[in-house]
Amino acid sequence: MAIVISHADWLAAAQERYGKHAKDWRFVCAACGHPQSAKDFADAGVDPKKIPDTLGISCVGRWLPAPRDAFDKGPGPCNYAGYGLFRISPIHVVIEGQDEPVYVFDFADRPLAAQRAEAVTA
Ligand SMILES: [Zn+2]
Repeated sequence: MAIVISHADWLAAAQERYGKHAKDWRFVCAACGHPQSAKDFADAGVDPKKIPDTLGISCVGRWLPAPRDAFDKGPGPCNYAGYGLFRISPIHVVIEGQDEPVYVFDFADRPLAAQRAEAVTA
């Protein structure tokens, strides 16, 4: 189930987990579950200026040789692209003034989905 969250609340949740710098934030791919950070994208050869556009949105496997297909089974990383036809990322970040949310991966540590589930069962 998707979690809809304001941009401000999402930033606060990220900073609470990892600090101010997005380069330290970690996400899990919505398709393959592979954890990834900005360092993994840099290591894969992604232009550092472009990392903020893709971290938490598309799987790092897109920039690695021979990733598995996003919708196959098995370990990642995979070739999932968040801006493609299939919007499976569980976190929908609502940006003021934008009609469509930004679809992002959940955090690798203390995922929002797990917290939401705890809140429901508590
Ligand atoms: Zn993946």
